[in-house]
Amino acid sequence: MNTADAPARATLELFREDAYRRDCVARIVALDAGGLRLDGTVFYPHGGGQAGDRGALLLADGSHIEIADTRKGERSGEIVHVPAPGQEARVAALRVGTEVMARIDWARRHRHMRFHTATHLLCALVPHPVDGCSITADYARLDFHMTEPLDKAALAAGLARLVAQAHAVSQRWISEAELDARAGLVRSMSVQPPRGFGLIRLVEVEGVDLQPCGGTHVANTAEIGTVLVTKIEKKSASTRRVVLGFDPA
Ligand SMILES: [Zn+2]
Repeated sequence: MNTADAPARATLELFREDAYRRDCVARIVALDAGGLRLDGTVFYPHGGGQAGDRGALLLADGSHIEIADTRKGERSGEIVHVPAPGQEARVAALRVGTEVMARIDWARRHRHMRFHTATHLLCALVPHPVDGCSITADYARLDFHMTEPLDKAALAAGLARLVAQAHAVSQRWISEAELDARAGLVRSMSVQPPRGFGLIRLVEVEGVDLQPCGGTHVANTAEIGTVLVTKIEKKSASTRRVVLGFDPA
């Protein structure tokens, strides 16, 4: 297909500056069996524990390609839109240079954003290093490197309080050198902030939490809504796992 001669280029990451953006017009820059790459996208690629976006690429003829997952490509900065199975012939018929409207499954992404922001609140409530993280539309789990037991009811009450207090969530960029000088900002042991572009994105839950993070967040903790602590597990002698869910009601 068309990828062999395609120049290596980073995908413009529109979700980084505006997590609320649901769609964008973009051009196909490469396609192969693994998926499609665009010159820019609103689709968040699986990373930092957060699931990749689903959605659709809308074509000029009114048809669409359903996207089942979004992944990072082999080359730094590449984002691959993975089509759902069963569309192989239609994907193969696409051409590099074609313009599409990329639209995410917003309901699903918004759940990712609410859960993701909730994990930042959890970090503020549990002052121990994080050594694992998974954020999906149905649950979020965070593994803390610690030996002490955790109190489920106290954590649930703490989360409810921080949500009710409606803290603003903002982001800004700092240099890698500045980050290195403030090593305490790196909360996560397993997830290192993305590097290589000279700048690191800091996410601040005003008055609550500050850490480097590349994921998508809501703009205010009130938007998280009711979040439940569904499980606390002792995963190992030195790991406590906290699982969050939304109220099914
Ligand atoms: Zn985050």
